[in-house]
Amino acid sequence: MAASNGPSAELLELVKEQQAFLEMLARSWVSDYRASGGSIFCSKGCRNCCSLAVHTGFAEALAIASYLDDNLRQAVSAYASKLKALVGGVSALPEYLRLHRREMGYCPLLDASGSCSVYPVRPLTCRALISTKESCWCATDFATVSASDRDGYLASLDRQVVNYPSHYVAVLQESAQELEDVENRRMHELFGFSLYGNLGVLLELICQHRLAEACLEGRATVEAVIAAAGFEHPLLLTVG
Ligand code: SF4
Repeated sequence: MAASNGPSAELLELVKEQQAFLEMLARSWVSDYRASGGSIFCSKGCRNCCSLAVHTGFAEALAIASYLDDNLRQAVSAYASKLKALVGGVSALPEYLRLHRREMGYCPLLDASGSCSVYPVRPLTCRALISTKESCWCATDFATVSASDRDGYLASLDRQVVNYPSHYVAVLQESAQELEDVENRRMHELFGFSLYGNLGVLLELICQHRLAEACLEGRATVEAVIAAAGFEHPLLLTVG
């Protein structure tokens, strides 16, 4: 991977600082919220939010790629192949998110004990997912929930802090979004384009299709790599 120096190294340094900042913010926010009587339910081994689709910038995927061993690379390849086969007829975001949750299973980076195998470099979007409800709600497919249960759930949410109608803390998700925007803008300045999308697909392209090297050659080469690998789908990747 072409990341030891140059623009990729600069992006990696930015991502490291951003992740450390969000980590500090999340810990501080959770501590204050608990001290004020609020409940946060995230804990080690709790994996239910890891069945959501994870999307990141190229640089966050690049940081994770250097953590992968052969087993994880194989798990990522299996995930990316399955997603490629399933996503073909999908054109709307809600359908993509539903397909992901119902048919893709857990993130390929989740280990057998239910822990994140890339925890030190896990993406901003994962760090920002802090739950104000029991973990069963993180796995719930609301299309299958009765109207009365859904109303009970909505009524139980702390509207002052959640990203309504979800039960995740809004300010942390907003902060992660702002940091991702900064990362994308910096990539645009350094490379002349930005690249954002499904984490498993980005990892597959970095590990098996030399995406990091393609980024140094420019947007046209990146688009050619994506198309050749069969991941040219607007819901999977955005070259901006
Ligand atoms: S990267 Fe880690 S924390 Fe994020 S979904 Fe995958 S296993 Fe879970």
